Formats: sequence, C-alpha cells, structure tokens
Amino acid sequence: MAAGLYIHFPFCERKCDYCAFCSRRPVDGEIGRYIAALKKEAERLGDNYKGVNFDTVYIGGGTPSLMTAKELSLLADAVLPCFDIAKDIEFTTEANPECFSAGFAFAFSEIGGNRLSLGVQSLAAAECAAVGRKTEPEKVFRAIDTAKEAGITNISCDLLSGLPFQTEASLTENIERLSAAGITHLSLYSLNVEEGTPLYKRKGALSFPDDEKEFSLYLAACELLSSLGFEHYEVSNFAKAGFRSRHNLKYWRGDGYLGIGPAAHSYMDGKRFYYSKDIDGFIAGGAPVSEEDGEIKTGSLEERIMLSLRTADGLPLSLIPEEKRPAAKAFTAKLTENGLAKPSDSFVILTDRGLFVMNEIILKLTDIINN
Ligand code: SF4
Repeated sequence: MAAGLYIHFPFCERKCDYCAFCSRRPVDGEIGRYIAALKKEAERLGDNYKGVNFDTVYIGGGTPSLMTAKELSLLADAVLPCFDIAKDIEFTTEANPECFSAGFAFAFSEIGGNRLSLGVQSLAAAECAAVGRKTEPEKVFRAIDTAKEAGITNISCDLLSGLPFQTEASLTENIERLSAAGITHLSLYSLNVEEGTPLYKRKGALSFPDDEKEFSLYLAACELLSSLGFEHYEVSNFAKAGFRSRHNLKYWRGDGYLGIGPAAHSYMDGKRFYYSKDIDGFIAGGAPVSEEDGEIKTGSLEERIMLSLRTADGLPLSLIPEEKRPAAKAFTAKLTENGLAKPSDSFVILTDRGLFVMNEIILKLTDIINN
C-alpha cells in the first residue's frame, strides 16, 4: 500500500484569533532556513523509508501560499527527491486567498501540484472579523480563477460553521457561490474555540450558535451540498464524483503517512509519532520526535471504529468480535430506526444526522464491545 507524504509549513502572515495550529509570522530569512531544515530532515527520513512508495503529497500549514514561487520550488527540490514518489500522485497545497499569487500557482503546477485547498472559512466579512480573520470574497474567486489558469482544476475550499453572526442563509449562500465557481471539494469544519487562543479569552463577549443551531446549520449544508452533486464522504468532507481527497482518506482508512515539520504527525509501519511544536528547535535541527500514546491504542478495534464511522464507507460489522456482534447489530438497528444510520445488515454507515452525533455513537458502540 502506498503512503502519503505531509510537509508542514508553519508560517502565516498573521495569526487568526481562533488558531491553535503550529504557525507564526516568519522573521527575516526564516523561510529559507526552514526549507534548509526540511531538506536535512527529508534526507534522514528518505534513508529510513527507502522502498516506500508515496502516492500523495500534501503541503499544509500555516499558509504555504506565503512562499514566493522561488521558495516553493526550493522546498520541492529539497524534499521530494529524497522519496520514491509515484507518477500518478495527488499533490495538494493549502493556500490562503489573501496571498495566493499567480506566480505561486504556476510554480505549484510546475512542480507537479494538481490540487488546491483554499482556506476560505466564510465569505461574510462580519463573521470572519468576529474571529480575527480577514476575508475579501473577490480574492477568493480570483484565487479559484488563477488556479484554473495554472491548470489546477481540483479545488477544495474550507468553510467554518459555528461562527458568530452566522445564519443558515449566509452559510448556504457561501456554498452556492463556491459551487458555482466550479470547486470539486468542500470541507466544512465546526469552529472549535480552544483554550489558550485569543478567541477563547474574549468568547464571553461573542454570541456563538448553540448546539441546536449548529445542528441545523450542518443539516442545511449537507442537504444543499447533496443537491449540488457533492457526495458526503466523511463527517466534514464533501466531494464531486472522483474528487475525494486521496491524501486525507489515508488518515481515516489507517493507511501509512509520513509528516515532516513541527507538529507533523506520522503513521508508518504500525506506529504513530509526531514532532514537537517547536519551530525554532526544528530549524536548529533538534526538534524531538515522540511516539504517540493516546488513550486509544494504535491498531486497536476502538481506533478502527473511530476512524471508519467518520466515512461514507462505514464500519464493517465483521470487524466486531462474533460474541459482541448481535448486540452491535441491535444497536445499529436502533440507530437506523432513529434516522442516525442507513439500513444495512453488514455495515454501520451513519446518516448526516448520525454524523453530527458521531462521538456519542462511537462511545456507545465501544462500550458494547468492551462490556
Ligand atoms: S491562516 Fe490558518 S494556520 Fe494561519 S493563523 Fe489563520 S487559521 Fe492559523
């Protein structure tokens, strides 16, 4: 099975108030030094993973489109030759419409890039301003056109739900406008106000949609996207036929992926590991890599349940130990009765409603299996 390669770019023009990702504004010359550190690390990892074929590459951030065309080419030259990259790859870069230049788009196409993931979040200025982010819809649509001119036609946009001031009308209008612009994929994430972020400190002064409102926003988006020809193939992801994200599917299917850069996670040879978030340490060549020791064990049935219930392929009931299967089937029948799962004798496949309460369903199902 081929693996995915993830390259982290930890710099942004400015920090959004809700952001808990590993990113910051670069100081002078730092992008060049970071690319040099990536090269060293890629050489080390390339030696460790000789013979592994990589059929997806993903540059995430941060804001990779902050790089100049030259820096992007340097990054590709520094990292890609260290690995055995398949010919027919899906090669994605994330980008911010605020800084997506034609130079970057053409350089990305030149290095073999064929998929763009645009962080839109919302086309409504007030919704974005409330969470400390800028949006200019004309820049979003210009970015989509620029990508197409550079030959990149597989275009995904990220939207957020749960923003202050957000209404069903504004979310559905966003989706309609992006769909009309010809995107092939849409990710809809729920805003998570994490402790330690500037947004967390001022969240009391803002009015966020409650759970019921979030539920109706999610259902309205799912319904509209389905009517526009997008398949709901993962809890937060929707794709036109043939445009599921091959790279992200690896995360949910338990396939291998190798991450490089601060905070990047990997799952290779049955082991999960990750870099610390220390950007300076990574540049200095000393960022430690730790093994993941979450509550859920790598390769366990619990992990399989958690990952497969996220997707439209669902959980095969055959994975559940035989003695627990009747109880799991009875539970699935109840879910189906309540409109939370699709009728099936051999899989648990959640409906849009079921996906919204997926975490509770996972807990109940793992409880059935463990007791
Ligand atoms: S652009 Fe993305 S990574 Fe950068 S600060 Fe905003 S949310 Fe964080």
